[in-house]
Amino acid sequence: RLELKSVTRRFDGQPVVDGIDLTLRAGEVACLLGPSGCGKSTTLRLAAGVDSPDGGEVLIDGEVVADGRRNLPPEHRSIGLMFQDFALFPHLDVARNVAFGLSGGKAEQMARVTELLGKVGLAGYEGKFPHQLSGGEQQRVALARALAPRPAIMLMDEPFSGLDKRLRDGIRDETLDILREEGTAVLLVTHEPDEAMRMADKIALMRNGRIVQVGNPYSVYTKPVDKEAAAFFSDIN
Ligand code: ATP
Ligand code: MG
Repeated sequence: RLELKSVTRRFDGQPVVDGIDLTLRAGEVACLLGPSGCGKSTTLRLAAGVDSPDGGEVLIDGEVVADGRRNLPPEHRSIGLMFQDFALFPHLDVARNVAFGLSGGKAEQMARVTELLGKVGLAGYEGKFPHQLSGGEQQRVALARALAPRPAIMLMDEPFSGLDKRLRDGIRDETLDILREEGTAVLLVTHEPDEAMRMADKIALMRNGRIVQVGNPYSVYTKPVDKEAAAFFSDIN
């Protein structure tokens, strides 16, 4: 369970994240949706601990991991991260990339690597290097790597945006299946309404650093809070 309470972040005196309240429950898939520049990535970075808030609190399972003074680093938050620009380590093979965040014995690590490569459809790819893989395959390895330590929470920032549309739909659905199977809660950032509609249990619509509406995809789509929200959803087919 991840909670943001009145979380604020300013850059050069300007609030970019302006008092955000958001709860992600165990096993839930929530999308932070909004136009470019509204503060989605900044919010996710605060949730991850890559950046620290100026005000408010971030809690994981009821424990404060960040407030204006303290900031628990990402590696101590039992979260997985998948960012668009989170590249694989080019000098490590697929197995070592996936095993990167794992502790424990070698055999145990390799069992988890094999299990995950099977899940993402890359069984037998252990010895390949990132440059020998397509973009879609690299994305799958990145997913396997993020899932390897069994994080309770996965934070994803536009993880599919580098892929062409045909590939993207497939990987998106597979990713969601795998995350549900693993029981991982997901906070996914996207600026595409159809991606949010397709993936989310809950959509938090963001604008100018604030969340203007929260609800399930159906209610957010059929009962937009205002004209601007309606317009934002209007180009979905
Ligand atoms: P996009 O959909 O384009 O990725 P976003 O909603 O993720 O947009 P953010 O990356 O959170 O938007 O940025 C929100 C605003 O904060 C932007 O105006 C950006 O220029 C500004 N900003 C983000 N990081 C910094 C920083 N480190 N220093 C100064 N300004 C920043
Ligand atoms: Mg962004």
